[in-house]
Amino acid sequence: MNKALILSHLRNIPNFPAPGIQFKDVSTLFKDPVCFREILNELVALYKNRGITKVVGIESRGFIMGAALAAELGAGFVMCRKPGKLPGETVKTDYTKEYGTDSIEIHTGAIDCGDTVLIHDDLLATGGSMRAAYDLVQSFHPKATFVNFLIELRMEGLDGRAAFAPGTDITCLLTLTE
Ligand code: AMP
Repeated sequence: MNKALILSHLRNIPNFPAPGIQFKDVSTLFKDPVCFREILNELVALYKNRGITKVVGIESRGFIMGAALAAELGAGFVMCRKPGKLPGETVKTDYTKEYGTDSIEIHTGAIDCGDTVLIHDDLLATGGSMRAAYDLVQSFHPKATFVNFLIELRMEGLDGRAAFAPGTDITCLLTLTE
């Protein structure tokens, strides 16, 4: 993987959406066709032999690469959305994130016990949103569950991996320490 290429396209926006937050803006990764393809190729290489049948993307930045990856893997794509956005019956959970609290939902019946699931989001901070999504996915009793982020923030006082049980299969393309 060309990490330098990806890093060169990642934009940091200070104090968004709240003072003190260093926001890692992935829109600048996605708007560049070479960078977009590089990321997608790396994700395909990581997951093509894992038997993934469903990719779950976390709203909203997890939808972009998640859906592209699902298509490349020949898997289905499932949206994990903010409350009130999914029209059908849902299962729901609440969680705490780096800035505030939130809830997420998945449609009832979106995953079944024969599925091998990859849950994808753009960034790991506290791990709260992915942990909530992970727990929601477990309520469908899939065969196996994998977790992927494009970016892991590993800074003082921030250890998102600690939100998951030891042995949880987690990959991150980039780890940022500042
Ligand atoms: P967390 O649940 O704390 O791991 O936060 C991860 C979620 O919040 C992801 O969906 C990210 O898109 C978003 N997020 C949290 N912190 C940041 C940040 N510093 N830069 C960009 N996105 C962030």
